[in-house]
Amino acid sequence: IPPFDPTDPLGLDDLLDPEDLGIRDTVRAWAADRVLPYVADWYEKGELPEIRELARELGGLGALGMSLSGYGCAGASAVQYGLACLELEAADSGIRSLVSVQGSLAMYAIHRFGSEAQKQEWLPRMASGEVIGCFGLTEPDHGSDPAAMRTYAKRDGTDWVLNGRKMWITNGSVAGVAVVWAQTEDGIRGFVVPAGSAGFSAPEIKHKWSLRASVTSELVLDDVRLPADAVLPEVTGLRGPLSCLSHARYGIVWGAMGAARSSFEAAVDYAKSREQFGRPIGGFQLTQAKLADMAVELHKGILLAHHLGRRMDAGRLRPEQVSFGKLNNVREAIEICRTARTILGANGISLEYPVMRHATNLESVLTYEGTVEMHQLVLGKALTGLDAFR
Ligand code: FAD
Repeated sequence: IPPFDPTDPLGLDDLLDPEDLGIRDTVRAWAADRVLPYVADWYEKGELPEIRELARELGGLGALGMSLSGYGCAGASAVQYGLACLELEAADSGIRSLVSVQGSLAMYAIHRFGSEAQKQEWLPRMASGEVIGCFGLTEPDHGSDPAAMRTYAKRDGTDWVLNGRKMWITNGSVAGVAVVWAQTEDGIRGFVVPAGSAGFSAPEIKHKWSLRASVTSELVLDDVRLPADAVLPEVTGLRGPLSCLSHARYGIVWGAMGAARSSFEAAVDYAKSREQFGRPIGGFQLTQAKLADMAVELHKGILLAHHLGRRMDAGRLRPEQVSFGKLNNVREAIEICRTARTILGANGISLEYPVMRHATNLESVLTYEGTVEMHQLVLGKALTGLDAFR
């Protein structure tokens, strides 16, 4: 029997093959080199100054549209994509958000619902990181209930004319292309909107106290005229955006455990070296109880993510199961970060340590891609057969 490994107490690495481990180590090394030394500074300044360069490097790693196939995408497994999300979010949720929105929302929408011409035009450049994408669903007055959106696309001859506002859109101001969801005569449709389109602008949202190393924007659509072929032809209705969200949420199930792992590791290190009352605080039973509970939730969460990944790879993952994972893992991750914060005492609030940054980032992760309450309602409906949404 192999010895107990404090970094992998359940032996979960046994579930991974050499290729999985290679991808995980490559992404971990990239984040250690390109993100970790700088991210506290970016976070403090509330900016992601090298976003275009980072996107190209992530493209070079195969991390953009990682589990999609063809069109320059890596064709990795869902488990491998999840491992990458975990490693990126262990650095910062903002970097993982960049990758999730690019690959699981913008590229996924075009890959699954786009025409061959749309795929050829956008996906290779998005996979390489040359073009950044965003995904506009949420509006100022419509978040959890996107079916009530007001953004409207009207036919004018063969053209489409879009009017409306989208809010809280990750990557918006730096995007070369936006996938925008709008009401039409036939129901909700997706549109591929090049950022240079007349009437389109994407002012950045400032004064965020969470996901500060991430670009978040408003999308303004004032009479944006698009050709007939700008619409995603293969989907009508909320099923379109919801299936993209299900894919992105799956990545979050893994990613949240990255933020938790980073905070847990900081807490263990600190508990072993910080002395009070003449001995390391890690030697006190109360601290050990915290660390033991954190480790239990962290590794249970990773095991859950892995299980969902295998189901996705087998084509057997249901949206309710993704809700299960997102609800549990983000909620537990934030709890782990908050407990880690207490172990670090006053140092826990400093940007010298990653803990508070992860905890505040996870406040956004708790809300976006379906709030805790929405996932409780999804599960509640699946468990009872009764719809409590409205
Ligand atoms: P609301 O829907 O107004 O909800 C407010 C509260 O009411 C929540 O607690 C909610 O759970 C609760 N609530 C609502 N309805 C019910 C109900 N029926 N029963 C019980 N409780 C209810 N959106 C995009 O489209 N693209 C993006 O790239 C994107 N990036 C984001 C990045 C960040 C940093 C953030 C913070 C958000 C982002 N979002 C994005 C938006 C995000 O998806 C929404 O914020 C989220 O869906 C919640 O919507 P809302 O903020 O309007 O809250």
